[in-house]
Amino acid sequence: MDNCDFCDQATLEKQVIYKSDKILVFYPRSPVIREHLMVIPERHVEDFQGLREEEVLESTMIVKRIFKAFENQGASGFNLFTNVGKKAGQHVPHFHWHVFIRFDNEKVSPYKILSDPKLKESISPEEWKKRRDMISKFLKTDRGKY
Ligand SMILES: [Zn+2]
Repeated sequence: MDNCDFCDQATLEKQVIYKSDKILVFYPRSPVIREHLMVIPERHVEDFQGLREEEVLESTMIVKRIFKAFENQGASGFNLFTNVGKKAGQHVPHFHWHVFIRFDNEKVSPYKILSDPKLKESISPEEWKKRRDMISKFLKTDRGKY
């Protein structure tokens, strides 16, 4: 769809780190925390209410896979949420799950950062690329283990 950030080919080429049949996983340009991923249907659909049954299933199965891969990297928990509607904080009108991977040794909770954006760590374009490639690599490497 025109004018949608998550349908924009240039954005997707840079940010997508994993792709299945109908679902894309990407590393946002401005992650709230180091391990912040977004899971979206490739098809443009405005919000959760517009998802097809197979997109609900495939996207949540991918979240399970993502968490399993991070668990193998020492993660101890995760948050999964979506915002539906502007009032609820939805900025991009293309459905997306936010996934925050949590570690025992994290310095600041992502929810604290969301309520006080000054706490967010800024990252250079080089560091961003390094993280994106690292996460992409182990998501692909872990394929088939579960
Ligand atoms: Zn879109």
